[in-house]
Amino acid sequence: MVFDKKEECGLFGIYGASDAVQQTFFGLYSLQHRGQESAGIASSDGENIQCYTGMGSVGRVFRSGGSALEQLANPIAIGHVRYSTSGSSKPINSQPFITEYSQGQVAVAHNGNLINAPLLRAEYEAYGHIFKSTSDTEIISHLLAKPTHVSKSDPLAHVLNHLQGAYCLLFMFPDRIEAARDPYGIRPLCIGKTAEGHYCVASESCALDAIGAEFVREVEPGEIVTLNQDGVSSRFFVKPGTVKPAHCIFEHVYFSKQNSNIFGQNVHEFRKRLGRQLAKEHPVDADVVIAIPDSGSSSALGYAQGSGIPFDMGMVRSHYIGRTFISPDQKMRELQVRLKLAIIPEIVKDKRVVVVDDSIVRGTTTRSKMLALRQAGAKEIHMRASCAPIRFPCFYGVDFPTKEELIANNKTIEQIRDFIEVESLGYLSLDGMLGCVDRPKDNYCTACWSGEYPIPVDVRLNKFTMERHQMTLFDNTVTEL
Ligand code: SF4
Repeated sequence: MVFDKKEECGLFGIYGASDAVQQTFFGLYSLQHRGQESAGIASSDGENIQCYTGMGSVGRVFRSGGSALEQLANPIAIGHVRYSTSGSSKPINSQPFITEYSQGQVAVAHNGNLINAPLLRAEYEAYGHIFKSTSDTEIISHLLAKPTHVSKSDPLAHVLNHLQGAYCLLFMFPDRIEAARDPYGIRPLCIGKTAEGHYCVASESCALDAIGAEFVREVEPGEIVTLNQDGVSSRFFVKPGTVKPAHCIFEHVYFSKQNSNIFGQNVHEFRKRLGRQLAKEHPVDADVVIAIPDSGSSSALGYAQGSGIPFDMGMVRSHYIGRTFISPDQKMRELQVRLKLAIIPEIVKDKRVVVVDDSIVRGTTTRSKMLALRQAGAKEIHMRASCAPIRFPCFYGVDFPTKEELIANNKTIEQIRDFIEVESLGYLSLDGMLGCVDRPKDNYCTACWSGEYPIPVDVRLNKFTMERHQMTLFDNTVTEL
């Protein structure tokens, strides 16, 4: 990976376990790669909801919270790790959000991006609603509380039909968890079951593995899954088969953890396929294949398998600092990059080196890594990216830079090669990427490569759209009811 793209969020929820809050903590820990800006857990004893949120990684939030986990100890819990894809990085935007309305309490946790949130918020503000955050998620509580929505036979399904964009949502009411996935199935969400028979939900199956739960199935696009004292039940808020799925293929290329199974495929195996295809499309005579760890590792292995060139570990990643791109500030990200990747000169010195990474976004950090490789003695450098050139921004929950900042939007492949100072550069084709999926090719979103957005978007939007005012409210990072 190239450290200049950003992540989204991770969700975990479990019903009925005596140690539900601890399980949620470990589930979130395994989803930490999806966001390190803030973390939070809301829990319920069946009647009342409590919540604790804070800035930073899961370990940091719950260490600084002291006995927070003990205080939250209840048998129903949901948790969230956040990277801000809507609204800036500040305590007030931490999730889960808890609200009390005419029907009682609800906690909401969201992964994705609601593209109609600014419009909905403007409508509600016109009627005097007050919002405390600048996140797109808060509008959902207001929709739930609207009297004409409350009176519907299934208010939650009714509210979900008002949302546009990418969303996996966990709602915790005092007596149950409701997990919902948008009709396009853009972000992953799955159901698991623990050895004790408790049902849980998670953004990726790696969180199920972390707590020893078995994978049951994915939450289907347009489905609401309820976890309560009767076990698990399901209903659809959009008729199945009426919307063509648009799974985010970038989840496979980069975001998700290698041991996760998403969209019906293991992430590591998928990336190896990408690498083998890359070797077919962009062969080169070389002595060694190395990866930019960690997200380039699986595709580098695949490239080595496909090309017959030996794989070796030419770069070592420090695991003691967080994923660099998650830091919201560019200067901090670049400082972290230098700390994070170290080259093993003995592997690259005087060699013709193939370097495989998952993608190139801005190109600036790729360039600095290529220069470092050259300083370490690499004779030739052949850069290979296991996805097509990213030319368009994402409006569905991935915080890429603006279109203008995307290097492939401004330069030809040859100009990029020249900029990063390598002997050759090869990107996997979009067809090659889609050749690696198990589901029908047209069931995936490819908008950041193709510019074809499955849900129409207003290209003027960005993550700060709802921040018209400088917020002067400070949050003590703890919310308790
Ligand atoms: Fe994923 Fe790209 Fe589509 Fe965003 S635009 S959902 S990153 S494939």
